[in-house]
Amino acid sequence: MTQLASVGDFCPNPDCEAYGDVEANVIIRYGKTRDGRQRYQCKACQKTFNERKGTMFYNRKTEEKDILECLALLAEGVRISSISRSKGFKEDTILSFLREAAHHAQEVEAILLNEYEISQVQIAGLWTYVGHKKVATSA
Ligand SMILES: [Zn+2]
Repeated sequence: MTQLASVGDFCPNPDCEAYGDVEANVIIRYGKTRDGRQRYQCKACQKTFNERKGTMFYNRKTEEKDILECLALLAEGVRISSISRSKGFKEDTILSFLREAAHHAQEVEAILLNEYEISQVQIAGLWTYVGHKKVATSA
């Protein structure tokens, strides 16, 4: 049985010592927002956040599922032009998903590994598209 890391399982604050760590057990429920979303607090940094905050999808209108499917297809080696045709996104849009995903690499990797059964090697290949992977030489 696979388990998907979701908001409330880890701290989304990049400055926090427990940032992105689903094993840390530092997140507690902290009431609800005015519009009824679950709110959480991190015991390590005391920051509060709601269900959407801290996910790469916080400000995007595109369905999370569509974005993740694009990333999963890319990771499986499907060409961007093919994904663009089948999903109806511009190639630039797909690359922007990828660039944004790279900023939330740990979270995105957890989802791709667990929910889409993408391998670590495939994920590493995914990041090479956007140069996320640290390389020994610099331009
Ligand atoms: Zn924290």
